[in-house]
Amino acid sequence: MRSLWNDDDARRLVEELGKAWGEELALRTYSARLLGGDPTLVVHGGGNTSVKGTVTDIAGERHRAVFVKASGASLGSIRPEAHLPLLLEPLLRLQSLDDLSDDDMVLELSRHLFRPGSGRPSIEALVHAFLPARFVDHTHADAVLALTNQPRGEEVAREVFGDDVVVLPYVSPGFHLAKAVAGAFHASPRVRGMIWARHGIVTWGEDARESYEAMVALVSKAEARLASSASRPPAVPAASLERARDAVPAAAPVLRGLLAGPADTEGVRRRVVIQPLVTPELLAFLAAPGAREAADAGPLTSDHLIRTGPWPAWVEAFDPSDPGVMRERIGLALREYAGRYREYLDRNASLMPAGVPAFDAWPRVVLVPGLGALCAGRDLEDAAIARDITERTIAVKAQVLGSGRYEGLPEPDLFGMEYRTLQHAKLGGRAAGPLTGEVAVVTGAAGAIGSGICRGLLEAGCLVAATDLGGAALDSLVSELAASFGPRVTGVPMDVTDAAAVAAAWRRVAATWGGVDLVIVNAGIAHVSSLASMDLAAFRRLERVNVEGTLIVLAEAARQFALQGSGGDVVVVSTKNVFAPGAKFGAYSATKAAAHQLARIASLELAELDVRVNMVAPDAVFSDGARKSGLWAEVGPDRMRARGLDEAGLEAYYRSRNLLKAPVTAKHVANAVLFFATRQTPTTGATIPVDGGLPDATPR
Ligand SMILES: [Zn+2]
Repeated sequence: MRSLWNDDDARRLVEELGKAWGEELALRTYSARLLGGDPTLVVHGGGNTSVKGTVTDIAGERHRAVFVKASGASLGSIRPEAHLPLLLEPLLRLQSLDDLSDDDMVLELSRHLFRPGSGRPSIEALVHAFLPARFVDHTHADAVLALTNQPRGEEVAREVFGDDVVVLPYVSPGFHLAKAVAGAFHASPRVRGMIWARHGIVTWGEDARESYEAMVALVSKAEARLASSASRPPAVPAASLERARDAVPAAAPVLRGLLAGPADTEGVRRRVVIQPLVTPELLAFLAAPGAREAADAGPLTSDHLIRTGPWPAWVEAFDPSDPGVMRERIGLALREYAGRYREYLDRNASLMPAGVPAFDAWPRVVLVPGLGALCAGRDLEDAAIARDITERTIAVKAQVLGSGRYEGLPEPDLFGMEYRTLQHAKLGGRAAGPLTGEVAVVTGAAGAIGSGICRGLLEAGCLVAATDLGGAALDSLVSELAASFGPRVTGVPMDVTDAAAVAAAWRRVAATWGGVDLVIVNAGIAHVSSLASMDLAAFRRLERVNVEGTLIVLAEAARQFALQGSGGDVVVVSTKNVFAPGAKFGAYSATKAAAHQLARIASLELAELDVRVNMVAPDAVFSDGARKSGLWAEVGPDRMRARGLDEAGLEAYYRSRNLLKAPVTAKHVANAVLFFATRQTPTTGATIPVDGGLPDATPR
């Protein structure tokens, strides 16, 4: 490990943050980010850091304080305010206690938080308080864990680090670890750091750099020892990597479907997001002798438990071109996992805290030799955390496997951490929408209605693959939505008239999030002409997009819903013209009527898969804010001219023709889509008009 300390960068951050937060906290932020930027030290919310200083109360009196990282905050992107100020003196008094429950510890920490309500201090806050050094850094460095997570781990660590450090056996994080650390430090105050077996490493210093450089030096020592002893597994041929990547879009929906379980009484299933991990390192590990035993032997550090579960599920290798065998193997692995998890719950029932419900018996990580890992979470963030932790876990276990045997925490310690309610707070906190964990494909997304539907689905928590012809319109929509919704939206260029492109888009979505639950068939084009002067080529263009495009998307959806096996919803954006066609709208009305009829057929054919197919029938949606609809481009200028109206006047004209005198917007169409997508009623084959009330167009 190389030191990344750079005096210029440090000074720049002090200039940026020092005025508001002080030089010490600015430097604390700088070196915390250096640690957090290295995934071999910490991932996501792992690790914690602190600095000691003072705070001044309202009466002008100064108090000693320790600024400790907030629980769950990521070091790599930490802000100065995420080091929470705690009054030091009252915390130091806790050292004299023999025991302190988690509840009391949380109460004490929140009682002595100098900025009440500013967050929840790390579970290791007392370690930071009890160690007297000004700066304290704690990570779960891969190299350290690769040394300690072995049968002779502590002994090996003592050999490697010599008298420079204290090696502690595993102690449950929190008050007891803080006491053990304080005791060990006072017994050997000259050491530069501590190794916590099967947990991580802590270093300290009087300034930010000293503590950081101690971390670099000690981790480098561990790395040097590993490099001298470990043998590397043979490299994986490029063709195997390619095969594994190809297998993911077929395997992920099957896993996702099985994890969904049966529908509840409201027709709703458990939706998870899948994040695949396919790397040469992982494939080599999975093929190595002893891999399954090592994979089963627990996480690297107890902090990972709530993210990955105590062990992964293991699927025997299969031929991904045979979906029957694939489903059978994955199903078997899930049943095995569930059985093992229930036995683990039974064996450790006496350790279960009162009133805490058991987690479901589904794996968070599924390992498949020849394919890689499929990591599951209730939303994208959880799944991505499980994937990133799995990557680190495999890196360390592969290193251990090269020279010895991996040994994780004993089961009671695993169980104790998994069911420690203090840790569960990290799992809550994010608001879940009604469609959290669901994946939608929206066609014609770059238009006015399509973009409104994408936004509506994203606001409901859905993951959205926005598809349209590739180009600036799709790109600008995706970047606009990504600014609000981050990685929950992705743009997938797709021509609905090209069956191969549609199939490829589905594979891409399956590789990105694991499958598809919701399909919004919205792509459509308009053409204005009387029948007498109809240009046949223009008519056929509408047939291709509006009819064949709908057919191709419905057909692909049907095949993929069958593969996933966990139901789904289709909403076809129809039009009031299906029920009340207009003169000069022959091409549009006829082709949309055919699409509408295909949707009704789909509702008949797909019901046995628990797939519901419904329609929404809007009238005259011309824009979604700044985004004009294709229909507007086709008819707007012409109609304005014909009626001698401006844009606002034309919109008023359309409004005045409905019963409610209501404008119809893309958001209204999105709301109708959401009604079906959230399964409010057991309905299929139905149409919701979104038109302000047009008696001629009411579906009968
Ligand atoms: Zn830790």
